[in-house]
Amino acid sequence: MKKGMLCFAGLLLYLQVHCWGFYMHEQINYHAVFLLPPQMMLLYKENIGYLTEHAVDPDKRRYAVASEGAHHFMDIDHYGVYPFHDLPHNYKAAVEKFSADTLLAYGIVPWWVQTMLGRLTKAFRDKDRHFILKYSAEIGHYIADAHVPLHACSNHNGQLTNQQGIHAFWESRIPELFAEQKWDFFIGKAVYIPDPGAFIWSRLLESAAAADTVLRCEREVSFRMRADQKYAFEDRKGLLVRQYSTAYATLYNNALNNMIERRMRQSILAVASFWYTAWVNAGQPPLDHLTHDSLTLEEKQEYQTLNLEWKKGKVQGRDCEE
Ligand SMILES: [Zn+2]
Repeated sequence: MKKGMLCFAGLLLYLQVHCWGFYMHEQINYHAVFLLPPQMMLLYKENIGYLTEHAVDPDKRRYAVASEGAHHFMDIDHYGVYPFHDLPHNYKAAVEKFSADTLLAYGIVPWWVQTMLGRLTKAFRDKDRHFILKYSAEIGHYIADAHVPLHACSNHNGQLTNQQGIHAFWESRIPELFAEQKWDFFIGKAVYIPDPGAFIWSRLLESAAAADTVLRCEREVSFRMRADQKYAFEDRKGLLVRQYSTAYATLYNNALNNMIERRMRQSILAVASFWYTAWVNAGQPPLDHLTHDSLTLEEKQEYQTLNLEWKKGKVQGRDCEE
């Protein structure tokens, strides 16, 4: 009975995984703060707890709002083969060619990052503390998602090739096993991005190009390990959970030649650089003496509703883990 309950609790936890995993989104925003210039660090370091906690709001919103899902991915292979010349990078031109509904159905992450950059830049111009922090936390999430190869591929959970579970394996299980002890987060300094649209598109195209490797390597290592060694009951945040074994994760991570660490480091640098670019484009306003530093009742309620819907636990629209 006790073992049954443990397994059940474990299964629940196993199913509660999210894009880049909650843990990784939090880590990416956290590490990005240390790449900022001192004038920005002033505000960002003081609010590092907020930026970390709210890194996962966009994933929570997927439980409350059906249209939110499209902001996190792009099944770019729907539009042909790499480098997908048929798909215009300009949103208006893409709508004219394919219709807004089609674009939404196959995901819009590179355009959504640019929308969020516009909002963040405006928040800096308005010297609005609440929206600077909110949009910084949230744009960090979308930028990080664009760096995940399986967020740029219609076979996003290996469902077409009998590799179900690979999504969370790549973006949650492996980082949780290795990031803290083995990965290096000395990354350098945020840089100004002269053309943010071109930048995020090139990151998405890199993701799309890497998706084949992500899938192929898993297929190859799965031939090298017996099925009963592939999974194990191991500790996950204090619970015994059936998941990919540490041995199998090590084998896969080695086969990928540290791709996941590399993508995480690139995500961190990109997040800090987008924050920095928004601030520069807003005229580098001093980040002390900001307005809107306490939340209205409505804003507090918005966050509570987000958490309530998320705890109910049903993703509206597409789920990464399906
Ligand atoms: Zn996401």
